[in-house]
Amino acid sequence: MALIVHKYGGTSMGSTERIRNVAKRVAKWHRAGHQMVVVPSAMSGETNRLLALAKEVAPEKPTTAYFRELDQLAATGEQASSALLAIALQAEGLEAVSFSGWQVPIRTNDAYTKARIESIDDARVKAELAAGKVVIITGFQGIDAEGNVTTLGRGGSDTSAVAVAAAMGAAECLIYTDVDGVYTTDPRVVPEARRLERVSFEEMLEMASMGSKVLQIRSVEFAGKYRVPIRVLSSFTSWDIDLNEEARSGTLITFEDDESMEQAVVSGIAFNRDEAKITVLGVPDTPGIAYQILGAVADANVEVDVIIQNISKDGKTDFSFTVHRNDLAKTLDLLKTQVAPKLGAAEVVGDARICKVSIVGIGMRSHVGVASRMFRCLSEEGINIQMISTSEIKTSVVIDEKYMELAVRALHREFDLDQPIDSLGAKQG
Ligand code: ASP
Ligand code: MG
Repeated sequence: MALIVHKYGGTSMGSTERIRNVAKRVAKWHRAGHQMVVVPSAMSGETNRLLALAKEVAPEKPTTAYFRELDQLAATGEQASSALLAIALQAEGLEAVSFSGWQVPIRTNDAYTKARIESIDDARVKAELAAGKVVIITGFQGIDAEGNVTTLGRGGSDTSAVAVAAAMGAAECLIYTDVDGVYTTDPRVVPEARRLERVSFEEMLEMASMGSKVLQIRSVEFAGKYRVPIRVLSSFTSWDIDLNEEARSGTLITFEDDESMEQAVVSGIAFNRDEAKITVLGVPDTPGIAYQILGAVADANVEVDVIIQNISKDGKTDFSFTVHRNDLAKTLDLLKTQVAPKLGAAEVVGDARICKVSIVGIGMRSHVGVASRMFRCLSEEGINIQMISTSEIKTSVVIDEKYMELAVRALHREFDLDQPIDSLGAKQG
């Protein structure tokens, strides 16, 4: 008998019929002798609907008072789905109780719409579990020190579930979603993409940060910090499939330092179209330039990703970096009006038609030549690389957006990801 956390995404909670199915699945696990804590998302579309209502009432206003009300509003989506699930479980003949974040409580900081969890008091949940109940905890939300309801950012229920699993020392956190695991890349781009049976936590972190939308990145960070084993699996299997089979399905995000992990060089290809490139042309190549440009950008709360500075010619250089597309206009304006004139830069240009494509794999630590194989593959496709960045287990390139799919497909083939080898390197079957 173990303490298990289940998390159900919005699609899995999408209708009353689906909620009844979730209840049946949870009941199966409970009857097998496990203590069950369930963290649901709001019913699919509900968070969007609520946030759209706010906009309908009045145009968005970037004030703390406004964001406070957005959280107060959006948090109701999970309160409703959690109560509905408790009712469905009771109808299954189980004892079940639902709690909102503030009732647990899940304490967060006060950054409305993107709050971070600081601590979870598990006393009340433990007492209910000990009394034989299934405990349901709303995803996506908590309470700050002043008693205000906060939310954790879109997709934040994943983080709630992992944080609850960490706080309670759960044996595993099962994330039920509308895909049956983590894939070598997005199957909509590469139909041959394969489900990984296991993926290391470090790889998952890189993939989540680079556009693989399976898990909210904060949840992966949490899992890494507290070493919570997570499994991503489908909620669309029949609820009454064999429990042991279900417990082995999907993708396990693992911490095992398995020897055979060395064998797979690249585990996945990630990509995202969320960034834009900014180039400051003709800046004097003197100490402090990077600081003057990027310091101003950081002060405006804009996050910078890939950075490149070219060698100088006649004492002048070009400086490029990427930001989120939503920050492009604001950053260009800032640089043009405040930074470039001070630096005596010739010009500032922005390009939103870029994408970032990355190869990810812990095998890259122990293999040389992986990046060059990536560059050769792209050159054979005639794709020009605009920027490159690397970490120990990842190489990313920024390329023209129109070649994104071509690049992802070519790299998927180049690194044999359509072959049946999981990230452990063990041949299957
Ligand atoms: N309901 C929230 C959202 O749509 C949180 C979640 O589903 O994880 O972002
Ligand atoms: Mg989600």
